[in-house]
Amino acid sequence: MPDRNEWTLEVAGMTCDHCARTVDQALRRVPGVLESATRWEEGRSRVVAEAAVGTDTLAAALPKQYRIVGHRAAHAHAPRRAREGESFDLLVIGGGSAGFAAAIRAADLGATAGIVNAGTLGGTCVNVGCVPSKTLIRAAEAHHRAEHHAFAGIRVRAERPDFAAAVRQKDELVAELRQQKYADVIAAYPTVSLIEGSARFRPDGTVEVDGRPVRAGKVVLATGASPWAAPIPGLDGTLYLTSTEALALTDLPTTLIAIGGSAVGLELAQMFARLGTKVTVLEALPRLVSAEDADIGEGLAAYLRDESIEVHAGVAVRRVSGKPGEYRVEFDDHGARRTAEAEQLLVATGRRANTKGLGLEEAGIRLGKKGEVVVDEHLETTRKGVYAAGDVAGEPMFVYVAAYAGNLAAENALEGNVRKYDLSVVPRVTFTDPAVASVGLTAPQARERGVAAIESKLPLSYVPRALAARDTRGFIKLVADEKTNLLVGAHILAPEAGEMIQEAAMAIRFGIRVDEIAAMLHPYLTHAEGLKLAAQTFKKDVARLSCCAA
Ligand SMILES: Cc1cc2nc3c(=O)[nH]c(=O)nc-3n(C[C@H](O)[C@H](O)[C@H](O)COP(=O)(O)OP(=O)(O)OC[C@H]3O[C@@H](n4cnc5c(N)ncnc54)[C@H](O)[C@@H]3O)c2cc1C
Repeated sequence: MPDRNEWTLEVAGMTCDHCARTVDQALRRVPGVLESATRWEEGRSRVVAEAAVGTDTLAAALPKQYRIVGHRAAHAHAPRRAREGESFDLLVIGGGSAGFAAAIRAADLGATAGIVNAGTLGGTCVNVGCVPSKTLIRAAEAHHRAEHHAFAGIRVRAERPDFAAAVRQKDELVAELRQQKYADVIAAYPTVSLIEGSARFRPDGTVEVDGRPVRAGKVVLATGASPWAAPIPGLDGTLYLTSTEALALTDLPTTLIAIGGSAVGLELAQMFARLGTKVTVLEALPRLVSAEDADIGEGLAAYLRDESIEVHAGVAVRRVSGKPGEYRVEFDDHGARRTAEAEQLLVATGRRANTKGLGLEEAGIRLGKKGEVVVDEHLETTRKGVYAAGDVAGEPMFVYVAAYAGNLAAENALEGNVRKYDLSVVPRVTFTDPAVASVGLTAPQARERGVAAIESKLPLSYVPRALAARDTRGFIKLVADEKTNLLVGAHILAPEAGEMIQEAAMAIRFGIRVDEIAAMLHPYLTHAEGLKLAAQTFKKDVARLSCCAA
């Protein structure tokens, strides 16, 4: 018997945002209603409620100008709750991607697992990270593309965006995926239980949740990370936005300063700029996305400036002051003292592991310089039987790394350190437009390791797909070992670069040579064909190749 229903209600009488908010408020007040997301444009509300709540109750809760004229229900599952005193083969601390991967692996191995979670189920990625950012970035792109394209005769006029509606649609997607990919998933594994509360270690290495002991054979720590602010004078006493609050705004700011020119700062900066906000980006290091190949940072800054984003790299932020509506940031820009003013201030200077207040060091679990949990090649911490996975173990902080780590940590915990954690090939993407995608080493990094590195750089203007799409921003750079012809790195700045990088990652992982990539059939008029062309560029002048680059 399901203990929850997910209702789709057809609601008549709604004509505006205010109606949608009123309906949501009324539905959320009904005892047993857990979530309500309404879109007046579609005349629909999506409601998750305990099984005892029927449509009559929901209908009675609505103000009389709104009527439920149709409904359908799908069963939504509540996670199984742990019983008082229950013990587990594996206790997972943290209900995000790493924690879920760990619990599922435990269940697949026939073990029982308890997931302790203090915050919203699903953690960062689904609630305040990947999902909300990527859907709003696409919404902003759709708006931007309406007027910014290079096709003759295509005339589209973009109206002022309804930001609140875009945010509501984002919230619906987040709620839907949280239910499907987290709550329903726990419910589908009978040996996995949820324990809501905050966990901490006792000095003897056992775990308590809100003061109550929980018994477990092994532990996987997966408490994630939180936004971290660089030590900038004035920031401490200032109310600013982190990515979490920026993604929850319902009013579009007219002006915004983003401190931090890496993935999160730039993705959000461009998203707001494309919706109409005047954005200034301040980056302390000499280039944007400083961990990437040098040409990428320079190229990306130029493309962002083309979209009227003010980009300052290599600056020293001297002081921050103000409050919502009136912020002031003073910075040194290559010898000149400057000031930026804006309605909102976003600080995106990195994330740090959630390790405070967990009693880790007292329990013999060592932390690194940035507060991350130190792990060995099996992801075991300095306390035997306690493993760590995901953002809590430090860089690289990506959700697919967290999921891989959670799975591996659980298996090692339960089966006895059978797998080694391997981060030798980690593709990464920054979802700007053009996007940044890379894997492996840059040429200088390869040379530092004694590799006889050679480089090929192909401007997108040589890629037929880019020509047909009339968007030739960016380039593909490949790095190979001259002695073996093996690919050692790929660095791409291009629209949809993230869709291209996996081929390069596979080549590096499985030792495919660049001449083999150059010889492979790649479908004509795809961005992926650019990789073949870039591979050919090691030996040939692509300007002298005909169609399909044979
Ligand atoms: C804006 C943004 C965009 C991003 N975009 C991408 C992207 O496009 N692609 C990508 O790969 N990655 C992206 N990331 C990174 C990705 O979201 C994280 O790497 C990933 O979610 C980390 O998962 P995790 O399980 O380690 O931690 P989390 O998902 O943070 O889970 C940790 C959980 O532990 C809980 N917890 C903490 N302390 C305790 C405690 N004491 N007791 C019990 N529970 C506790 C927390 O409440 C939380 O639910 C993005 C991040 C941000 C912020």
